[in-house]
Amino acid sequence: MSLLVVGSVAYDGIETPFGKVDKILGGSATYISLTSSYFTGNVNLVGVVGKDFAEDDISLLESKNVNLKGLQRDYSGNTFFWRGKYHYDLNNRDTLDTQLNVFEHFDPLIPEEYKNAKYVALGNIEPSLQNKVLDQIEDPDYVVMDTMNFWIDGTPDALKRTLKLVDLLVINDSEARELADEPNLFRAAEKVMKMGPETLIIKKGEHGALLFTRGEIFSAPAYPVIDIFDPTGAGDSFMGGMLGWIAYTNDRSSQNLRRAVIFGSVMASFCVEEFGPERLKNLTEKEIYDRYREFRELSQIPEIS
Ligand code: AMP
Repeated sequence: MSLLVVGSVAYDGIETPFGKVDKILGGSATYISLTSSYFTGNVNLVGVVGKDFAEDDISLLESKNVNLKGLQRDYSGNTFFWRGKYHYDLNNRDTLDTQLNVFEHFDPLIPEEYKNAKYVALGNIEPSLQNKVLDQIEDPDYVVMDTMNFWIDGTPDALKRTLKLVDLLVINDSEARELADEPNLFRAAEKVMKMGPETLIIKKGEHGALLFTRGEIFSAPAYPVIDIFDPTGAGDSFMGGMLGWIAYTNDRSSQNLRRAVIFGSVMASFCVEEFGPERLKNLTEKEIYDRYREFRELSQIPEIS
């Protein structure tokens, strides 16, 4: 099944305790597209880039068979730019600079041939834009969205409208607490699901993820990544791996959602091993499936005899 991905395409400046890069490809739609492309060969990206967007970055996306018909090119300015700095606790980052550039006037126009999309990934963009995307999709089967504190604080009404239209929300633990205004994560999950999504994933950074479906909770382990260089894009890679798997299998049963959460965790664990999307450029199927099996091993709980 094809997957429609809408979100930011960016250049990032990143500093972590292990190094620094001034300008590297980034953005939510970029990470979601790259990671999901390993599962479904039919990824349609909708976003905007500016006059500085490099041919090499176009070629990278094309080399992964990401369809770029919906990638607008706006020559009136530069590509969205974000700069962030991480400290030793890689779960927290400081945003040092956000230059919206051509993203400021981004109008997510969905090309005619994508309007019948069944699987839709809404990367972390303004909720009213996410809404606008959904207005153009005829009859989606499964809509997955991400959001962030910035929108939870800044545009809560638009966010709540979008939440009513999505099937699965992927957020991190602090966002879940904030959105629900509830410190207990499990009560927060219950409150968030009452806002619309029938499935909720709460990411806990390097500590794994929780999957909530009606009446069921699944706890995914964290992979012990030894060489973490840069967590940028881990959340989006999680979403891409997860939704790539769901779109590929076209199966939204609770067992398959569990597999999807592990494939999401697999792709996030690869993402953090190098700066930006470097590690996501040349993964092999064997590496991906081997790591999936390692994840399984991590949480085999023996029976009590
Ligand atoms: P993640 O680490 O998965 O949360 O996402 C990182 C990506 O989000 C980076 O590559 C940034 O370019 C992108 N990003 C950061 N801030 C924003 C924003 N306000 N809107 C859209 N994308 C953003």
